[in-house]
Amino acid sequence: MIPQDIKKRVSELHRQINDHNHRYYVLDDPEVSDAQYDRLLRDLSELEEKHPDLITPDSPTQRVGAQPSEKFTTVQHQERMYSLENVMTEKELDEWHERLLKSAREIKPDIKELELVVEPKIDGAAVELVYKKGRLIVGSTRGDGLTGEDTTGNLKTIRAVPLQLIGQKVKVPARLDVRGEVYIAKEKFNEFNRQQIKAGKEPFANPRNAAAGSLRQLDSKITALRPLDIMIHGAGSIKGKSWKTHSELLEAIFRLGIKTVKPVKVCRNLDEVKKYHTDLLNKRDEIPYEIDGIVIKVNDLELQKRIGVRTRTPRWAVAYKFPAREETTRLLDIKVQVGRTGALTPVAILEPVKVGGVEVSRATLHNQDEIKRLGLKIGDWVVVKRSGDVIPKIIKSIVSKRTGKEKSFKMLQKCPVCQSGIVLPEGEIVPRCPNLGCPAQVKGALQHFVSRGAMDIEGLGSKIIEQLVDKKLVKDPADLYEPAIQGKLLQLERTGDKLVGNIMLAIDKSRQTTLPRFIYALGIRHVGEATAVILAEQFRTIENLEKASREELESIHEVGPIVARSIFDFFQNPNNKKIVLRMQRSGVKYDPVIGKKKGKLAGQVFLFTGELAKFGRTEAKRLVRENGGRVSATASKKVDYVVAGTDPGSKLEKAKKSGIKIISEKEFIKLVM
Ligand code: NAD
Repeated sequence: MIPQDIKKRVSELHRQINDHNHRYYVLDDPEVSDAQYDRLLRDLSELEEKHPDLITPDSPTQRVGAQPSEKFTTVQHQERMYSLENVMTEKELDEWHERLLKSAREIKPDIKELELVVEPKIDGAAVELVYKKGRLIVGSTRGDGLTGEDTTGNLKTIRAVPLQLIGQKVKVPARLDVRGEVYIAKEKFNEFNRQQIKAGKEPFANPRNAAAGSLRQLDSKITALRPLDIMIHGAGSIKGKSWKTHSELLEAIFRLGIKTVKPVKVCRNLDEVKKYHTDLLNKRDEIPYEIDGIVIKVNDLELQKRIGVRTRTPRWAVAYKFPAREETTRLLDIKVQVGRTGALTPVAILEPVKVGGVEVSRATLHNQDEIKRLGLKIGDWVVVKRSGDVIPKIIKSIVSKRTGKEKSFKMLQKCPVCQSGIVLPEGEIVPRCPNLGCPAQVKGALQHFVSRGAMDIEGLGSKIIEQLVDKKLVKDPADLYEPAIQGKLLQLERTGDKLVGNIMLAIDKSRQTTLPRFIYALGIRHVGEATAVILAEQFRTIENLEKASREELESIHEVGPIVARSIFDFFQNPNNKKIVLRMQRSGVKYDPVIGKKKGKLAGQVFLFTGELAKFGRTEAKRLVRENGGRVSATASKKVDYVVAGTDPGSKLEKAKKSGIKIISEKEFIKLVM
């Protein structure tokens, strides 16, 4: 007697799996991840194994795929097309191998090792192509294994499908049915999905679904526009020719002009198989199309036949899968994070799920456009993917699973950390917190502030800055100039009197600076050292710069609208103005700005090539600018001096030809110091 609850569970599994099969094979729009689907199928197999009376001919364990859709004419496969048994772990592989050896020894008792052939498992849609006398007669999908859909017209749009076989070194057989996978390369898939979204259509969950969906278009003209490709990995019915091994068969198919899977390796034992698996897994990300494991087959075709098949899978082959990289889970919330530069990025908070062996509970969403692109709503079921070491990503939301309770995401209008109104710089998609004093930005801003090209406060390294901010001792750069800073530094871990004394000296020294350094130190977006010099020359004081309108800023030749807007927005924030004022009150002063025509190097143009021994390129350029000179990137007539370091590049040759004066680093130092 089989308990009632088991019967109920089995019938529920039938219903669920059939439903998923329909969505996957007929609609090309799965609702659960493959891993989840595989678990359901496994549950059912296990129950059926324990209670064989429950196995019915229509059980999903007894059939491959799904019945062909009525939209297509059907094709009877001459020989049945099978699915593959899966193993996930080395232990399961060993067990499969044991069973295989046992079956093989029942046929040939003297077998010691079985010759196995391994290939990548292409994650695509299974198809069959029938060639008679070398001519392509019909092409079809696998369907339920016995009957497939006639997709000849669509398959003919794939350039790699020959309409006529070539008989190079191999005689064309009277009949040859080849089987393989139609797939879309990863990059082409991404591009294709981008176009789908642009056209307001649903993106596909993965390249396999996109390939299957494209293949099953009713209009071949649409299929022709899809980037489909094909790889053949076996044969069905063959007439008028025979081969001894699977590897020889593949080689012959290749010679007949058909693209076959690669790399194919003949292995003498299971260790070689395992090595192939590891090697391919390591290379997985470099391979331009998705592979979800390797397929191991008995190489001897005669032996394959004698080992035989089960209802839906052959006994002589197995798929040794790679860890699944996609899962489905719930999107619980979308939180907004503020990065070091003030960028506000949405982050997906997920119901924890294991993807490829690692628990995932957050995924990056990059920006608001990404949320729009994916059509995400809070509460959605989503497909999450982890490729290689890459941070988990949401690929798609499963619209069919919505209940109506999902909520749209709205980007915040205020920074979640400091409550400043956020700004969206023109032409950009990432909103930002414009407040330099925002705790989330303070560390990054401080590191920039003390750096060499900025206020150059030696000794105030990132470890100290981190402690100062974490302990809430410093909240903006102006705090560094308050008298209390000394006491605060002494409170930190591993900061003795001597170290603090040195930092205090460096802080003091930095009070006397230049206007370009001061402007650069503020860390205004898009304002690098060179722009800071231009702004200083133009406005002469920080107060003038603060008051500048966008038009005034834009009127400067070197300042474009994006930079102008960024500077303008920066000083619109009252907190930033306050910080500047506090620094000035604490004694930060800058030299009166040297005009373009003044300074030791006034009016002179320098070009640097090769490596300098005494200072870095940026520092050397700064020296030129601070002394009124200019720096050029190319050797032109305007250049007065080319400073040649060691290993100079082609610029030196060009300079020599144009007769520009070439000086050494030593000579350069003499000029500026
Ligand atoms: P499968 O993809 O696991 O493996 C069998 C197929 O692999 C063969 O039919 C063959 O076409 C293909 N294959 C690729 N490379 C091969 C090679 N080198 N040699 C031989 N065969 C090769 O099995 P399946 O029956 O095609 O489909 C089951 C897959 O579909 C599973 O991964 C399952 O999770 C997924 N699925 C998912 C859902 C869902 O709702 N998410 C529903 C149904 C099926």
